[in-house]
Amino acid sequence: MNKGIYLIIAFLSENINLKTKSKVFPLKKGYYYYCGSAINGLAARIKRHLKKNKEKKHWHIDFLLEKAEIILINPYIVGDNSLEHILADILKEDLVSIKGFGCGDCKCESHLFYSKKLVAKPYLKILFQKHIEKVVEILLDLYRGKETPVEKFKTPWELLVSCIISLRTKDEVTAVSAERLFKEAPTPYHLMKLSPEKIGELIYPAGFYKTKGKNLQKVAEIIVKEYDGKVPDNKEDLLKLPNVGIKTANLVLANGFGHYEVCVDTHVHRISNRLGFIKTKTPEESEKVLKNILPKKYIREYNGLLVKHGQNICKPIRPLCDRCPLTKLCMFYLKNEDSKTKKS
Ligand code: SF4
Ligand SMILES: [Zn+2]
Repeated sequence: MNKGIYLIIAFLSENINLKTKSKVFPLKKGYYYYCGSAINGLAARIKRHLKKNKEKKHWHIDFLLEKAEIILINPYIVGDNSLEHILADILKEDLVSIKGFGCGDCKCESHLFYSKKLVAKPYLKILFQKHIEKVVEILLDLYRGKETPVEKFKTPWELLVSCIISLRTKDEVTAVSAERLFKEAPTPYHLMKLSPEKIGELIYPAGFYKTKGKNLQKVAEIIVKEYDGKVPDNKEDLLKLPNVGIKTANLVLANGFGHYEVCVDTHVHRISNRLGFIKTKTPEESEKVLKNILPKKYIREYNGLLVKHGQNICKPIRPLCDRCPLTKLCMFYLKNEDSKTKKS
């Protein structure tokens, strides 16, 4: 993939008046941070900067790099060059803007920033967080007002029961079955008193309704007897309940209790890998990595949005990329586009 943005850090060893084609910038001795983009030809652009091509000066940065020593050039592969301006915003928070530098065709104040001392901060890691936020915000817009039938269940108890029912069952069936059950048995106390057969009948036609009937009765009984009728708010205790795996436990903790947990199912695992956020083989592995990289403010929304995206557009076998608003931010799409260009 030959498109993306880049960050340059360069050192200027003396004060200068930098003359470019159109302007003069008085620059002090110190460190300069520049962000640029190349929507095609990223490798060539970086090579060109490294060569300090003295004859072919075009952008302001070419003039600066003739005088300054490059300390680092970091590429960031992405198809959406608006991330370049987001990077400029990130740099602006810590460093001094050199106003009007490298921002002729955007609304940024500058794309060059100064610091007397070297600021060793993981700026591209911060940008990666913003990249994920951008994806989440696009999906929030796309799926606003389009709740799945099971999203009406919000309390820890409703989430726990509906999750147990949902195993190998379509969302529409889960929603109707769970609702029928909650009408008859709204709390663990009520559910505990029903026979497993009756529970099975109430949740029919959910998959494995007989086994789930037994397990739900047991779950209710344990919650009443051992937890005073309240769903436990920690992973260890939740995982001791019959039919409760890590996915259910995380969903209850995240959506029911507001904890920072990610519920990783097949959609979340697949799409996070396609987008290029992670490179993992199993949902379990994905859960660990995602928990470390997802921005906290969206960690709870992440599951619901990716599930909807997986059911509607980013399908397992043939993703409908031509209908997806994430193409420029998605590695899978960029790689495919790349291989198509190479073939043609
Ligand atoms: S561009 Fe294609 S692969 Fe990427 S998220 Fe969208 S549908 Fe999925
Ligand atoms: Zn900009």
